[in-house]
Amino acid sequence: MSAFNFASGPARLPDAVLARAQQELLRRGADGACVAERPFTGAAFRAMLAHARQRLAELLALPDNYRILFLAGGAMHQFSMVPLNLLGHSRRAAYADSGYWSRRAMAEAARYAEVTLAAQFAGSAPLAAPPLDGWQLPAGSAYCHITPNETVDGVAYPALPDCGSVPLVADATSSLLTAPLDVSRFGLIYAAAQKNIGIAGMTLVIVREDLLQRPAPLVPTPFSYRVQAEQHSCVNTPPTVAIHLAGMVFDWIADNGGLAAMGEINRRKAAQLYAAIDASGGFYHAPVAIGHRSTSNVRFHLADAALTEAFLAAAEERGLTNLRGHSQIGGLRASLYNAMPEAGVAALIACMADFMRRYG
Ligand SMILES: *Cc1c(COP(=O)(O)O)cnc(C)c1O
Repeated sequence: MSAFNFASGPARLPDAVLARAQQELLRRGADGACVAERPFTGAAFRAMLAHARQRLAELLALPDNYRILFLAGGAMHQFSMVPLNLLGHSRRAAYADSGYWSRRAMAEAARYAEVTLAAQFAGSAPLAAPPLDGWQLPAGSAYCHITPNETVDGVAYPALPDCGSVPLVADATSSLLTAPLDVSRFGLIYAAAQKNIGIAGMTLVIVREDLLQRPAPLVPTPFSYRVQAEQHSCVNTPPTVAIHLAGMVFDWIADNGGLAAMGEINRRKAAQLYAAIDASGGFYHAPVAIGHRSTSNVRFHLADAALTEAFLAAAEERGLTNLRGHSQIGGLRASLYNAMPEAGVAALIACMADFMRRYG
């Protein structure tokens, strides 16, 4: 029986990437150094970094006027770095509230900016992303921030809002590379690696070149998008092993059909799980409206909440781990990023059916 880890992050890595990492990561080369031991200023690291950047650009069909930064830290670092780098002479930024992480981003930005609530999700059942029309974007807004996939709430936008000339900024930590994406719709996209890109400690920033001109004077130098772009993410020691692993994940995605194939498989996995929930006659329940349901993070609960612990124990017995919902909202959550094989989803569905036979 193979075990499947459904954690929201740090999350499962592709089997092939783990195998390759075991082969390559800590093996010394002719230079007497393994990946973790190589100077970031040396040719070997620079070649690897260039390869990772190139691969990612290919996967995203990245337009020429965007830059890719590999930065130290997590998504939350960007909650501050976005306003510090993008506000420029403006004091205003607009944030859409679609759930837990967008609210955290907004709270952090309020330390630097006058934050306008651009749009808000209903908050009552069934949960849904904010409606796509009627957004509040006051004149002079430096950018508009969204969280396309809310990892905690299990809510995803069905489409992108039209923010006109206001640059759209996205925290895509739990959605980047899960499906094709039209980068040209965004001014900036960021994603911490530990959900779907690699391991913790590194965050990707993809930024349109014209937005590099606005850093506040007090931005710490390693967190200045402009300086990092000028120095190819090597202002200081970058998270070298995390970048190497991300490069392996990019290779794996390319070898497996690219983002179109990832999107297809992810849609299928999520559809199967939601179908099992919806067909349970109310024994299991998904609180998010159809059309707004995340393919990355499937949130559900038992109609009888008192059975939650028994369900988690039964799942655990079958090697299906980390299905507990976020501590703030409880219930259950299955994260199905690229690395979760269809067999993992099938095992979860079988476990749910079995549990329902016993307790339904
Ligand atoms: C996980 C997550 C975060 C937090 O990431 P850290 O790297 O822990 O700061 C922020 N936003 C979203 C959408 C996430 O999924």
